[in-house]
Amino acid sequence: MNAFPFFEYRNGELHAEDVSLVQVAASHGTPTYVYSRASLESAWQDFNHELQGRDALVCYAMKANSNLAVLRTFARLGAGFDIVSGGELRRVIAAGGDPARVIFSGVGKSEAEIAFALSQRILCFNIESVQELDRVAAVAVSAGCAAPISIRVNPNVDARTHPYISTGLRENKFGVDIETAFALYRRAARLNGVRIVGIDCHIGSQLTDPAPLFEAQDKMLEMVDALAGEGIAISHLDLGGGLGIRYRDESPPDPRAYMREVLRRIGQRRLRLLFEPGRNLVGNAGVLLTRVEFLKTGDVKNFAIVDAAMNDLLRPSLYGAHHEILPVRDIGAAPRRFDVVGPVCESGDFLGKDRSLATAPGELLAVMSAGAYGMVMASNYNTRARPAEVLVDGRQVHLVRLRERPEDLFSLERIPDCLAAR
Ligand SMILES: *Cc1c(COP(=O)(O)O)cnc(C)c1O
Repeated sequence: MNAFPFFEYRNGELHAEDVSLVQVAASHGTPTYVYSRASLESAWQDFNHELQGRDALVCYAMKANSNLAVLRTFARLGAGFDIVSGGELRRVIAAGGDPARVIFSGVGKSEAEIAFALSQRILCFNIESVQELDRVAAVAVSAGCAAPISIRVNPNVDARTHPYISTGLRENKFGVDIETAFALYRRAARLNGVRIVGIDCHIGSQLTDPAPLFEAQDKMLEMVDALAGEGIAISHLDLGGGLGIRYRDESPPDPRAYMREVLRRIGQRRLRLLFEPGRNLVGNAGVLLTRVEFLKTGDVKNFAIVDAAMNDLLRPSLYGAHHEILPVRDIGAAPRRFDVVGPVCESGDFLGKDRSLATAPGELLAVMSAGAYGMVMASNYNTRARPAEVLVDGRQVHLVRLRERPEDLFSLERIPDCLAAR
């Protein structure tokens, strides 16, 4: 099975839908993030397929890719959004998303962020500590309303994924353990300014084995039942995100099969279901298009030095993550082994190691599976302007974020008068 069905070779050139990536580079330059609208929509349909006719809401975890055009694509399909900052809520609004379908996660919500989210009447605050519960209640009381809340439970389940993206163990900073969660529900039930609506968990990212997700779900369901026994009614169960994708040879569960098992475990309970998928909806819908500057060959190693770097796509440097790297054109040469590296002054600056590639200076490479945690993690390190982003829709290419200009990067900086030029 092709892991990237919307990115295919036609006439020897890699295409995004009906558009050659050679054409994208010619019109928009490199490095450029290229997203496929059909791929985004197909991932959405897959995730939602089994939920038809159910009381359910999929809240796209927008930190994975928060470009306004991507958000609008999902908003048009009826998505909710999982946000982790007030800035993200502003993006939802700017993209035409519905704040009434927004859930607010994250361990450090400020008073200003809480007040803004309350004013927008979001669906739910996912509460991660007793301190946060009290803060949300206090802000709501002074605003003269009651905040809808859910307690984020840390079910102490090992997601068996990379430690940086594992969040469901006691040692992680996220959520509260099960006993504390019961205490918080009892507290919330007596507190002015909050209204209990749900329960949630999110145990980690890029899970390729769904067993921990089901284990966490069962713990949540036990809690829902026990809370009902205490007279605390939970109307929605939010199972978080974390469903993995295929980067190389992983075999993550098909979203439909995953969902069927989730529904089987819900049984007859009358619970509204929420989900917070991020990576699963966008990861394989994007590539980072880059051009080879030099081939630096040596006795020990060959380097393909490209115009994209760790500041553009951090995952390989940060997690040792693997992204497939494909030549955009077939140049008919014999492949050689290269480390694919960028121009940033760090030895940790690489996009791929020891890759077999037939390429040459001036040729294009596509770094695959770059739709999630790609552009959103890009920085300006080395005063490198961040890439352009384009959305391909059939034969059309739409520029959805302009390439930054170097002067943009220091336009917010000021030289104080005491340093007047001499
Ligand atoms: C990051 C995050 C998600 C999305 O995770 P994915 O692995 O991208 O699906 C969902 N919920 C919360 C609370 C998150 O922090």
